Amino acid sequence: MKPDAKIEAEYRNLQRDGASISGEAQISSSRQGGSYTWSKASPLYDTSGQIIGAIESIHDITEHKQIEEDLRRSREKYHNIFENSIMGIYQSLQDGRYINVNPAFARLFGYDTPKELIASVTDIRLQLYVNPLDRDRAIKTLFEQGFLEGFELEVQRRDGTRFWVSMNTIIVQDEFGTHYDGTVEDITKRKDAEDALRSSEEKYRLLFENANESILVAQDSRIKFVNPKFIKVMGYSDTELKSRQFAEFVHPDDREMVVDNHLRRVRGENVPQLYAFRIIDRDGAIKWLEISSVLIVWDERPATLNFLADITERKQTEEELNRKNILLGGVAVATNILLTETDLNYAINQTLELLGRAIDADRAYIFENHELETGWYLASISHKWERNFAISEKGNPDLQDLKYHPALSRWYDVLSIGHSIKGLIQEFSESERAELEPQNIKSLLAIPIAVEGQFWGFIRLDDCHSERLWMGIEGAILQAAAASIGGAIARRHIEDELRSAKENAESATKAKSDFLANMSHEIRTPLNAIIGLSDLLQGTDLTQEQCNCVETIRRSGDSLLSVINDILDFSKVDSGKLELELRPFYLKEFVEASLNLMRPIASKKCLDLSYTIDETTPDAIMGDPGRLQQILTNLLSNAIKFTDRGTISVSISSQKLDGICHRICFQVKDTGIGIPENKMDRLFQSFTQVDSSTTRRYGGTGLGLAISKRLVEMMGGQIWAETELHKGSTFCFTILADATFIVPARIIISEKQKDNEIGKDRNQFLRILLAEDNAVNQMVMEKMLKKLGYHVDVAANGEEVLHSLELKPYDLILMDVQMPEMDGFETTRAIRRRWASADQPKIIAITAHALEGDREKCLDAGMDDYLSKPVKMADLDEMLAKYR
Ligand code: ADP
Repeated sequence: MKPDAKIEAEYRNLQRDGASISGEAQISSSRQGGSYTWSKASPLYDTSGQIIGAIESIHDITEHKQIEEDLRRSREKYHNIFENSIMGIYQSLQDGRYINVNPAFARLFGYDTPKELIASVTDIRLQLYVNPLDRDRAIKTLFEQGFLEGFELEVQRRDGTRFWVSMNTIIVQDEFGTHYDGTVEDITKRKDAEDALRSSEEKYRLLFENANESILVAQDSRIKFVNPKFIKVMGYSDTELKSRQFAEFVHPDDREMVVDNHLRRVRGENVPQLYAFRIIDRDGAIKWLEISSVLIVWDERPATLNFLADITERKQTEEELNRKNILLGGVAVATNILLTETDLNYAINQTLELLGRAIDADRAYIFENHELETGWYLASISHKWERNFAISEKGNPDLQDLKYHPALSRWYDVLSIGHSIKGLIQEFSESERAELEPQNIKSLLAIPIAVEGQFWGFIRLDDCHSERLWMGIEGAILQAAAASIGGAIARRHIEDELRSAKENAESATKAKSDFLANMSHEIRTPLNAIIGLSDLLQGTDLTQEQCNCVETIRRSGDSLLSVINDILDFSKVDSGKLELELRPFYLKEFVEASLNLMRPIASKKCLDLSYTIDETTPDAIMGDPGRLQQILTNLLSNAIKFTDRGTISVSISSQKLDGICHRICFQVKDTGIGIPENKMDRLFQSFTQVDSSTTRRYGGTGLGLAISKRLVEMMGGQIWAETELHKGSTFCFTILADATFIVPARIIISEKQKDNEIGKDRNQFLRILLAEDNAVNQMVMEKMLKKLGYHVDVAANGEEVLHSLELKPYDLILMDVQMPEMDGFETTRAIRRRWASADQPKIIAITAHALEGDREKCLDAGMDDYLSKPVKMADLDEMLAKYR
């Protein structure tokens, strides 16, 4: 109900002006279930036109009201959606303007409010579309199919930034005419994701297609997918590959392994990540592939994704490397054999076999060049190796002698300048083929051998089975082997030369030592008589004059003997035959004994002899006292010889080295004539004397110092001299020796010795047999023995000795070694064999062979002792005393 005041006013108007009034009224006070009415009051006029009342009509408008309410609500709902939707909603006109857009739409395009957008965008096509043609396309589609659904296009915001939207549109015809209603959704994110996916797919596709590795997908043992690389490796087309099982392409030898690995991988068992196998490509060539597989799902079923690397080249390199290593190993062993093996032929045969096997040839030969009378060269097999199954060329006469001319003259030219010949026979010249083909060779390698810079021959390796191409490195390695063979042959030549030179030298040395032995014997035998007989003569009654003569004879004999001894010593030292003894001795005793030896001559010249031993010097040392005495007495006798007045003094000092080793220094100082400075370098040289004039005053051979020098050196020392002319000389030498202790022997007088003491007169009871062929020596010895109180029987040779022994027993035989018929050695051996040990006589050798080794020879033959010629009475006495 309208308020009363308002109705009253309206009614007043009606009455005054005649204005109709109308209005709605809700009848019920309760809104629910209430009804609406619509009433109209119009003035009621009388005939005079005076308003006399009002005609009122009332309609029930409840239903109409209800519809109106529903519509309002629906509008409100739509408005809410429109306003709050996050999706852009628009109404646009064909001319490119918007009638209406929602806030989301405005925001999407960068406007604050829909109003702002509607005001600003006057041409959708140009202002919002990145590509204006898109709008034409959209409208065309829209009219064609009546709607647009998910139409994608790129649009731009107010600030120009671009983004992708998806559009749904319908055509609406209404009171405004034709317009488009639609929604717009920002799909930039989805688009980006799609792009990303597309580009990653593209990447993978590129990867697959351009991969350097073959990629293959296998399912149920069949090829499902391959990349172009695999197609290229195999030479088959994509369809050819896909229609077949993978295993068909695998080399038969590797097939089982590959299939087994595949099945095991599919079962989830442990299979090596990487392994290699061979395939056969469309041309039938064998290639090595290395496979790496992973399990994948392909079309919703298990499959393997396989990456295959073509490692054929690597395998070949490996193989070559392997071949090279085997060959190098073979050459190393061969070189060692060639260097160490003394049998050259054996070494070369071994080398050939090693090389042949290492290089995997069927045959290996060494051809040696020979010059023909025509001047042409010919090569013939000097060594050969043939593999068991190789076609032997043993019986092939062509091979035994291979003529360079005319067919193989190229060979001579190439090989002689150090180059090798290699290759397939089929590629050789016609004439060469004619020569080589009958030998069943398919491919060969010939390497020259040079000996001492000359082309000596060549090694030839044959391959009779395959048309083999020789690797460059094989040739190079074999050249090294050929050089070793050449070296070995050259060495053999040198060795042969050396051997014959050595044999010549040895026979010269032997001749020299034979000569020395003979000379020694020849000189000693008469000397024996001279010294022995003068010894005897001196024991007889002689006049003073005779006595002097005998003395001179005796002395001459002695000096002659010392000359011979020097020469022998020198030759022994020179030929390295001298060996040093090693035994302990007291230095003091040694020096005193040496000085005592010299005392008689020194006192004749009224020279004083003295010695000092430094207290640091060891009492006893290990060494060869005999040879040391030879050095010292040699220096002493020189000192005495070249000194007329004064003193000869010996001093010994020592320097401790490691442990017990000492360097002992001996000095022999004289006050004699001295040696001129410019002659010093001649000292110690053999056969040299400072004064070499024919009128020289002093005798000697010039050997003493040379021998001394060598002996000193053998003892690890040095010898030198210091001198001042007319004032005197000092000769020094050192030796290396170990200090030692000598346990003093207890002196026990044995039964035998006691007997000897008592039985001095019993010499006559010793039964002695003298075996000596030389009549003079026989006489000398007999006289000496007689003088010493012995009785002696004489035998002139071995036969006689044996005969005498059969007749009666002897206690002792003095056996000359050099006798005609049967010499001393042989006789001794016969005696030792023939007689029982109880009846064996003592045998003392008497020999002029004062050379090294003679003593051993005598003892070896079974003799007991040794006396060297010329035998002196004192020595003989001493020796016999031992066996009395
Ligand atoms: P020789 O048998 O001639 O003495 P050596 O080899 O013992 O041979 O000596 C060679 C030479 O050295 C002697 O001839 C002498 O000229 C010289 N000589 C050696 N010792 C002395 C010395 N003590 N005084 C002077 N000269 C010496």
